[in-house]
Amino acid sequence: MSIDTITDLQQAVEDAAAHLYVWSLKDIPQDLRDALRGAAERESHAVGKRILETITTNVAIADERRSLVCQDTGLAVYVVRMGEGFPLHPVRVEQALRDGTRRATLGHSLRSNTVHTLTRVATGDNTGHRIPHIHWDFVPDWDGLDVKCIPKGSGSENMSFLKMLTPADGLPGIKRFVIDSIVDAGGKPCPPGIVGVGIGGSADLAMHLAKEAIARPVGSGNPDPDVAALERELLALLNETGIGPMGLGGDTTVLSVHIEQAHTHITLNPVAVNYQCWAARRASAHIHADGTVDYDRDV
Ligand code: SF4
Repeated sequence: MSIDTITDLQQAVEDAAAHLYVWSLKDIPQDLRDALRGAAERESHAVGKRILETITTNVAIADERRSLVCQDTGLAVYVVRMGEGFPLHPVRVEQALRDGTRRATLGHSLRSNTVHTLTRVATGDNTGHRIPHIHWDFVPDWDGLDVKCIPKGSGSENMSFLKMLTPADGLPGIKRFVIDSIVDAGGKPCPPGIVGVGIGGSADLAMHLAKEAIARPVGSGNPDPDVAALERELLALLNETGIGPMGLGGDTTVLSVHIEQAHTHITLNPVAVNYQCWAARRASAHIHADGTVDYDRDV
């Protein structure tokens, strides 16, 4: 492949990243809109209903003015599926995602949130050391690249929890930990949103899975019927807590519970919770090997 072609492909990935970051911040997915509207219609508590109606009005105003649905532009996170035949090295894909994030931030005057963790000095462009964070997945016998952008607001990201349960804690321990986490979080993560749960693997894999879980469309069930049953059970239990929209009481504490799981060690039982707020933003692109791009909510 010629240098020009590689440069063009890197530019196509950068352009896609810049578009995805802005698109995701301004235009939330239809499944989320439907879930919020449905919750507003069903909510029986007056305050909860008013908050849900205010959220849907906020979304409509953002549509009308082409503005952001929330001022918190988040920490840029990308989930990437890269085919083994995609003709651009991952180092260049990473550079393109970083450059696209920077370009979108500066070109659209987006709020920059990224700071050095110790000095708190801001970078000013939503990039930094190891930021944007990229989840990689490599796919054999394929020459495409899927990129999903999930800007993650701090209110919800601060409500992330990990516990290394024992195998003896079993399923009851997993349920108790998820419920305790959401009750302790209360109104802080801007509910109602998506509760991402990662079970199994190691400590880092459990949190990785919880983050992948929040990237799914609202209400999409896990293909494993046992896991899907646990998702439904936890959704019902969490909505019985009465925490409600913004923690001010109501029937709708969460819109959905998504669980991702991995096998684990015989003596491990890790469980991680990653909350996603009502502004559960996500947008995706499929980049073909020839540099053409298809945009979709989920690829
Ligand atoms: S947690 Fe979500 S809704 Fe709340 S301020 Fe942050 S991005 Fe906005």
